[in-house]
Amino acid sequence: MKPAAFDYYAPQSLDEAIALLGKHSTGAKLLAGGQSFVPMANFRVLRPEVVVDLNRIAALSFIAERDGGIAIGAMTRHRAVERSGLVQARCPLIARAVPCIGHAVIRNRGTLGGSLSHADPAAEWPVVAIALGATMVARSPRGERLIPAAKFFVGLLTTALAEDEILVEVRFPVAPARTGAEFAEVSRRHGDFALVAVGAQVTLSAAGTIAEARLALGGVGPFPFDAASFAKRLVGSMPADKAFEALGQEIASTLEPSDDLHASSTYRKEVAGVLVVRALRTACARAKEAA
Ligand SMILES: Cc1cc2nc3c(=O)[nH]c(=O)nc-3n(C[C@H](O)[C@H](O)[C@H](O)COP(=O)(O)OP(=O)(O)OC[C@H]3O[C@@H](n4cnc5c(N)ncnc54)[C@H](O)[C@@H]3O)c2cc1C
Repeated sequence: MKPAAFDYYAPQSLDEAIALLGKHSTGAKLLAGGQSFVPMANFRVLRPEVVVDLNRIAALSFIAERDGGIAIGAMTRHRAVERSGLVQARCPLIARAVPCIGHAVIRNRGTLGGSLSHADPAAEWPVVAIALGATMVARSPRGERLIPAAKFFVGLLTTALAEDEILVEVRFPVAPARTGAEFAEVSRRHGDFALVAVGAQVTLSAAGTIAEARLALGGVGPFPFDAASFAKRLVGSMPADKAFEALGQEIASTLEPSDDLHASSTYRKEVAGVLVVRALRTACARAKEAA
């Protein structure tokens, strides 16, 4: 099928794109990598009257160290993040998660901003954003707005972005010394969207106890599950499988994933509990190696 007819704009600057969205705030859609937008428009799930293509705005593609964190532009391709030495050195969870996104050809085209704005509950980026407590930077004709990741995902394929807002940048914290991470997921075939995904990042103290633990899950509800309050309980103790297993079971019993074509709710809960243990165990082992 082909998409319904729309007016197409290809602005060269962010200001131009913001002005276009302001002018056509209802019925306009942004185009990033097009990997979700194009199939949805072809199936006419989306029928935008206006499409604003962000691909010519060079200022939206960057990876930079700024104010003690890492800022990544919304149009940065997954592959650019995967290949970034800065990300590998400073953001271990991102470095582990991004290679899990589809296949190389998908990562060549898909963007950080597109993935977060599309908000697929099984996608890797939303899980990472929640686990790391990222900050989304949105721009509109009204100015700039900072949205914490915990308030960004509001429902299935739905975010807190207003119709005239563009996600322009995402800010992630830099990992302290003695930090390790793991992104553990189960999918039916290599490169498929995850049935369940777990992102874990652990920082150890000089004495070897857990100083900080970050944890989030995907594929277990309409948007990522923030397990920060569970992970906090590990702080102060030595890494131990027994504690990880108890936490995994507790998290699994809290989740309420729905049944679908790919997996039953019971299966997803079971897998979630197992992946929590694996992710925490591996993250701790890597944190020890990094010490
Ligand atoms: C075969 C296949 C396999 C895939 N496997 C995976 C996978 O395993 N894991 C995974 O996470 N993803 C996967 N993807 C998704 C892909 O990697 C993209 O990340 C995702 O589709 C959206 O990114 P995009 O840049 O293509 O955005 P687009 O498709 O262009 O846009 C998606 C949505 O976000 C909106 N949007 C885009 N940019 C912005 C912005 N800056 N501000 C506000 N709104 C914006 C658009 O209007 C649209 O509604 C897969 C895709 C395909 C085709």
